[in-house]
Amino acid sequence: MLTETFSEKSQSTLYTLLPKVQNFLKMPKKLFIGGKWVDAVSGKTFPTYDPATGEILAHVAEADKEDVDKAVKAAREAFEKGPWAKMTPSDRGKLIWKLADLIEENLEELAQIESLDNGKPMAVAKVADLPLSIDLFRYMAGWATKIEGNTIPFSLAKPETFVSYTIREPIGVVGQIIPWNFPLLMAAWKLGPALATGCTIVLKPAEQTPLSALWLGELIQQAGFPDGVVNILPGFGETAGAAIASHMDIDKVAFTGSTEVGKIIVKAAASNLKKVSLELGGKSPNIVFSDADLSTAIPGAASAIFFNHGQCCCAGSRLYVEKKVFDKVVEGVSEEAKKIRLGPGLDPATQMGPLVSQEQFDRVSSYIRSGISEGGRVITGGNRYGERGYFIQPTIFSGVHSDMKIVNEEIFGPVVCAMPFEGVDEIAPVANQTIYGLAAGIWTNDISKAHRLASKLKAGTVWINCYNVFDAALPFGGYKQSGWGREMGHAVLENYLETKSVCIQI
Ligand code: ADP
Repeated sequence: MLTETFSEKSQSTLYTLLPKVQNFLKMPKKLFIGGKWVDAVSGKTFPTYDPATGEILAHVAEADKEDVDKAVKAAREAFEKGPWAKMTPSDRGKLIWKLADLIEENLEELAQIESLDNGKPMAVAKVADLPLSIDLFRYMAGWATKIEGNTIPFSLAKPETFVSYTIREPIGVVGQIIPWNFPLLMAAWKLGPALATGCTIVLKPAEQTPLSALWLGELIQQAGFPDGVVNILPGFGETAGAAIASHMDIDKVAFTGSTEVGKIIVKAAASNLKKVSLELGGKSPNIVFSDADLSTAIPGAASAIFFNHGQCCCAGSRLYVEKKVFDKVVEGVSEEAKKIRLGPGLDPATQMGPLVSQEQFDRVSSYIRSGISEGGRVITGGNRYGERGYFIQPTIFSGVHSDMKIVNEEIFGPVVCAMPFEGVDEIAPVANQTIYGLAAGIWTNDISKAHRLASKLKAGTVWINCYNVFDAALPFGGYKQSGWGREMGHAVLENYLETKSVCIQI
């Protein structure tokens, strides 16, 4: 059942905005450079919208190349000379932990901001985005004191003539470019390990969702991080983002976004051969066997694609179902889809909000049209919901085949292609057939079959009898064109560290 289209009013008149949120929305939104809030050099601003209504929420200072230059200078200064460089790992860890505490104190407000700016239900931000961000910072706070090198035994010299060891050092000034689907969480995934390792940072949030990163900047200031350690520059990809990726004094760029832009980042980073880590797109297979517990697999398959409106790089957007239970599972997922209540994010009854922007709305709509024109059958959904805002109904296609656009390309919306398969022998090559390799799901009660198939899937994460489960300790990232390197876990620290070998003749 869908909620009725909400009225013509803005969300702030329909629902109560928390007092701190009201104040924040009224304040000028500036760039955070060298510990100060400043206007863009150009004086330019850009609007950020409420995707539930299409109304402007706030105007935000728009960073460009000159602002990136200023921020890199501040980050370089902080890295080479500031108190950050001399701080003990333990004090660094304490600051990161403090930041987690401050986010927790502002949980309701940040969830409301995230909902307004991104469109996701506030209830979802409260149980997913916020707790995951807080936990990530706490996990990374612990790593600050555990970054160690090794002692290295020699073979071609007498053991008593040399002592050698490695030191792990922060890579330096880091550029971080993040997307709009989990604005605060993506900032946390990026900032946490960079801070734990002692880097300094120039962070660019996505132009669609700059607000929670600016709030985070306030908390970073409050926590007491030295000036210039974190610089936050809202702006557009082709200008501010491109300036970060190609900057000659940035040592490393970490990017999360589309595979297409990931390739542009790699080319730009060649300017000074800065190190690159990438978390990119996906077209993840979600595989349901007939021996699965369908009472969990069916809602699991629905949530794998419809969570966050399908705007997840790891969304289970290709649903493969063993032939014997295909009709039952597709019908079940379709029933789940019809139950999802669409509406504005601040309505407590809302389970799915709008897509983030007009551009995404147009893109997802055009994929739906392409699926239909290539002969796919819409089992449920397929249309816009309501008259304003960027709402799209949860949509299920069947009757699709492996060379159709909607089966191979990342849609980044609530659209899933359901396809039958015969048995375990056939499914791994089919599941592996796209250019991506971010995640996969397996639903079965046969644990041996699950392990065997997990080992054949080319995916950075394989979920068995669950989906979209994250933990700060569990590495996440992609095979093939889904990326380079891993986020989270201790694996992510590698992205931010250099190894120095020290060799002493004694
Ligand atoms: P999406 O298509 O989902 O919006 P993008 O990959 O376009 O994802 O954007 C992710 C992030 O990359 C955003 O912060 C965006 O501003 C930035 N970006 C987009 N284009 C470029 C570019 N040419 N150079 C650097 N950053 C970019």
